[in-house]
Amino acid sequence: MRFPAEPFRIKVVEKIRRTTRDERVELLQRAGLNVFLIPADAIYVDLLTDSGTGAMSDHQWAGLMIGDESYAGSKSFFKFESAVRDVTGFPSVIPTHQGRVAENLLFSTICSEGKTIIANTHFDTTRANVEMNHAEALDLPVKESMDPQLGSLWKGNMDLAKLEAKLKADRDNVPMVVMTVTNNSTGGQPVSMENIRGASKLCKQYGVPFFIDCARFAENCWFIHELEPGYKGKSIIEIARELFSYADGCWMSAKKDALVNIGGFIAMNDVELARKLQQKLILIEGFPTYGGLAGRDLEAVAIGLYEGMEQEYLQYRTAQVRYLGEMLLDAGISIVRPVGGHAVFIDAKAFCDHIPAEQFPGVALTSALYREAGIRGVEIGSLMFGHKDPATGEHVGPHLELVRLAIPRRVYTTAHMTYVAESIVELHKSRHAIKGMRLTYEAPVLRHFTARLEEV
Ligand SMILES: *Cc1c(COP(=O)(O)O)cnc(C)c1O
Repeated sequence: MRFPAEPFRIKVVEKIRRTTRDERVELLQRAGLNVFLIPADAIYVDLLTDSGTGAMSDHQWAGLMIGDESYAGSKSFFKFESAVRDVTGFPSVIPTHQGRVAENLLFSTICSEGKTIIANTHFDTTRANVEMNHAEALDLPVKESMDPQLGSLWKGNMDLAKLEAKLKADRDNVPMVVMTVTNNSTGGQPVSMENIRGASKLCKQYGVPFFIDCARFAENCWFIHELEPGYKGKSIIEIARELFSYADGCWMSAKKDALVNIGGFIAMNDVELARKLQQKLILIEGFPTYGGLAGRDLEAVAIGLYEGMEQEYLQYRTAQVRYLGEMLLDAGISIVRPVGGHAVFIDAKAFCDHIPAEQFPGVALTSALYREAGIRGVEIGSLMFGHKDPATGEHVGPHLELVRLAIPRRVYTTAHMTYVAESIVELHKSRHAIKGMRLTYEAPVLRHFTARLEEV
């Protein structure tokens, strides 16, 4: 069967609104053609992000009711701590309200001028937290990750030869090596256990701490289960425990694979480092047994961590994302291959091959997709990462112009995915009518969130 049916049934529903095309044209005008500025209640299928947008289970909702809101020593914290220890094996567990706070605590402690953090690829908040603390964020992805058409396995891997060369040359200035699983910035591509083992070995050899940015560890473990020799007979939690066993610590945005709307943590072996982070935690988040979360949120994470590792769920989850990708591929639409764990990335350069990079083909496609079908995706291209060269005034853009369709967990049905695919296929037929854009307003930093544009 091409698509396993949802391994759940629906107990609570949330109405979504179908707007008319005229309404959407009007809303887009008011939003300066930027879908970040469209109110969510005017969106039919919202694929802006998979972060914090998942549906909790009946067990998680029940968990909210037994959340213990004691300021110190809450029952819910101990449940949370034992779940994180059980999965990761790390003894020191620090709750945070989301992933980037864990990054802030960690990198403000270990980074300084002249230091370099190495990763397969830093996620954007990770990079920002490293750079804010005056260190360099060095990405060492395998070269296969640069070619979107290459359907090869393990495109999330780190280039171990380059890692070894850097450690050999500059070990004293590398306070940490990070493996992001799955590799979000290269398209949710998985990292193989072999690569994690190899990176870990090098880190041990050179005495550098090795951490996992594990927002999507369960999806990554599912790929290992399915695709890496020797893992078919293992459960996801066994694979996860092996993965974490190679590291000295990890941090997680629980808004992804722990199936909650808010939450995160950092966990590690180093008790001294954990103490330092806890001191900072008290300053910026709260007491070490709640860390910026309510007791009920801790309950929901403790339950969601295990639900996110259920094989039936992961099979459905990854198949749903792949289903959308394959429908687009079947219609001759170019996407990043292979389809990763949490999103489908459309090649906007190919889709809008009549629009030059400086006229934002990805934004043009995102805007057309909302206008024609009420679907919200996000541009990952020249608006997000490009700029004008101050000397020449010429546009400097990233290597790829992509539109990401991130799939929230347990939220949309197969019928929704079919609707999205068919709408995109329809739009593809008249794609040459999509117009390029120019900026009418841009903020000095992170301009894609608030930019306003008009058609040229
Ligand atoms: C989302 C994410 C983060 C940041 O977490 P937030 O919960 O959004 O603060 C860090 N790393 C990766 C890989 C992520 O996907």
